[in-house]
Amino acid sequence: MKCTVCKREAFVKLPAHNAKFCPDHFDQFFLRQVSRLIKKFRMLRPGARVLVAVSGGKDSLTVVDVLHRLGYQVTGFHVNVGIKENNFSEESEAVTISFFEKLGLPLKIINLEKEYGRNITTFARRFPRLCAVCGLTKRHLMNDYALAGRFSCVATGHHLDDLASSLLANVLRWDLSYLAKNLPVLPAEGPFAKKIKPLALLSEEEVRIYSELRGIKPVTAVCPYSKEAKFKRYKFFLNELEKQSPGMKRAFYENYLKVAGIFEKAGTSELPLRNCKICGGPTPSEICTFCRLWNRTQSAQEEDQEINLGDGN
Ligand code: SF4
Ligand code: ZN
Ligand code: ZN
Repeated sequence: MKCTVCKREAFVKLPAHNAKFCPDHFDQFFLRQVSRLIKKFRMLRPGARVLVAVSGGKDSLTVVDVLHRLGYQVTGFHVNVGIKENNFSEESEAVTISFFEKLGLPLKIINLEKEYGRNITTFARRFPRLCAVCGLTKRHLMNDYALAGRFSCVATGHHLDDLASSLLANVLRWDLSYLAKNLPVLPAEGPFAKKIKPLALLSEEEVRIYSELRGIKPVTAVCPYSKEAKFKRYKFFLNELEKQSPGMKRAFYENYLKVAGIFEKAGTSELPLRNCKICGGPTPSEICTFCRLWNRTQSAQEEDQEINLGDGN
């Protein structure tokens, strides 16, 4: 098997791109895909300061590595959610710290137990969808930190498999508000920082190959709650289809991008946002969901009935 570019021995075949690459040309291919997407969607100005959400997994570490190599000023943001099983949170934090130390990049860590006196698992019994609480908490903290630090935007490690699978799930439900937001870039909007997904057109497999090639060592511990992670079965179906029609996953998502504008109006919330009475953050009600979860002002039972985990940007 020969590299499509230099005819040396190829180590990877990418049927979706009808290409085979040696390590050097795979690396160039990967960087080019990211920088093209950044330009096409005007994600970042050259040398911009960007805050990257880092879990310690391969996807988020890859975004840090690529953006740093492309000349952007990266700061990491990690939340230790306090999951003791499998030593998950401790290991995630340690992996993140060591990765940032190696690159010599700044990193902000928030430890929920230290800041709020309890960890995310204390919600597990009351909220069966713990990932929803966990995600909402991390997004809220990250948005606050990005705005306070005047970062140009917040970047996450979502890749093509994440975006295509959520697209499929939302098309099957015709969930217009999600269909309006399944984009590689969401502009800053009032109290919400701009959000970018620089890996949006790279598949999970391509991200895995890149991270291995670069010697990135992600966290190996598995979150015990990850089995309830969203869209797993949709990823499986898309991968089955991809085997039969290489490139189908990317075409599905890229064709959506061409028509995504039609969902924009349908996706706008009818409820005007105001400032949360406790944290000042954006919310359609008096107190935002984050504050209801973490700064409990009424009895737990009373509040749990009111909490809507779909809130927030
Ligand atoms: Fe949080 Fe769910 Fe991720 Fe575990 S799998 S860290 S609970 S979002
Ligand atoms: Zn080559
Ligand atoms: Zn609040």
